Amino acid sequence: MGRIYLLDVTNRDGVQTAKLGLSKIEKTLINIYLNEMGVFQSEFGFPTTRHETRYLTANLELAEMGVLQPIRLQGWMRAIIGDVETAFKLVPNLRHLNLSISTSDQMIDGKFLGRKTRDHIISDMVEAVDAAWALGAESVGANAEDASRTGLDFLVKFGLAAKEHGATRLRYCDTLGYDNPFSIYQAVKALAEKVGLPIELHCHGDLGMAVANSLAGAKGAIDGGQDAYVNTTVNGIGERAGNADLVAFVLAASKSKDFAEKYPLASAVDLTQASKIAEFASYAFGVPIPINQPGVGANAFAHASGIHADGVLKDPDNYELYGFEELGRGEPKFVETGREIIAGQYSGISGFSHVMGKMEVSFASAEEANEILELVRYANVESQKPLVEDELLFIAKYPDIARKLLTLTPLE
Ligand SMILES: [Zn+2]
Repeated sequence: MGRIYLLDVTNRDGVQTAKLGLSKIEKTLINIYLNEMGVFQSEFGFPTTRHETRYLTANLELAEMGVLQPIRLQGWMRAIIGDVETAFKLVPNLRHLNLSISTSDQMIDGKFLGRKTRDHIISDMVEAVDAAWALGAESVGANAEDASRTGLDFLVKFGLAAKEHGATRLRYCDTLGYDNPFSIYQAVKALAEKVGLPIELHCHGDLGMAVANSLAGAKGAIDGGQDAYVNTTVNGIGERAGNADLVAFVLAASKSKDFAEKYPLASAVDLTQASKIAEFASYAFGVPIPINQPGVGANAFAHASGIHADGVLKDPDNYELYGFEELGRGEPKFVETGREIIAGQYSGISGFSHVMGKMEVSFASAEEANEILELVRYANVESQKPLVEDELLFIAKYPDIARKLLTLTPLE
């Protein structure tokens, strides 16, 4: 029986969203939180983009150190041989790749403007897949951009060519959020049956169906005899109307009517981390969590009307599908209302020692404290907002990694 793996793309689709971005330390914390939650894979960035190089290398180093384990870190790039070569030149330890190319006639005609035919799309992709294997890849996903507006016959041909060259998975991208649960189910089931590769679902919310389409697509892949890999982002942040929300998808897959028995998640997800990762992403992106967000919104467990309040007090199952404790909620929140000392880019050692002392962090020497403070200053320069406790703790614990993440000198 097929299973559903989670593949979060916050650090790729999320950060390429217009008007939004994350610092390299924020991206690193997202990877750490995803790992703590039990997410299978993080699409952690852009190996051909030079300002990502040190971040990607440092995160692969964290994986080697066991900090980012067992999560799999995978880079995203275009499915052209030059991108694959650049990726391995800049990030030699990269082992997991997703190679993306447009497959729809709309994109082939409207984007490549006659420079590429369908045959070129396939030859570019298979050459890129070959190059990835030759340069040391351990897994290679072939990414069909705009798959939902691509004819099934060509998608099958694309998938079979990828498979013939050893591709590990086929990513079905509903790039414009054009599918509905019925259409994506049919398309993905047929692809799974005819291509015989695990299928990734990459769904967008332009019509408000990213989570529903991901669920239906996963069912299609499994009914077609393959595993499903669902692309999510934290709080659904992604291009335009966004992607499938990580927490909402996990809730849908594990709690919706009669689904999980036949279509299980590949491994347990620790939903008690949900509130923490959602709040951190909200803070880091500067985007509030909608009050009615599934599971983590302020109103997700709020009851006001007489009938509902009475019912939920008698038995929570009357008006709640799942408990707030499962989402890591219920602890009272501490909000400072008096004097606050904040560690930032202009901080001195006294204020910094006070902030770290409150978290019970002490330093072996004044030199060590000054070294960490200097890194904290630079982290604040990069993020331009007060660092959260976990960022300060991360910098204090892994100063050498933090220094790499904060080194933003343009490369040659
Ligand atoms: Zn996308």
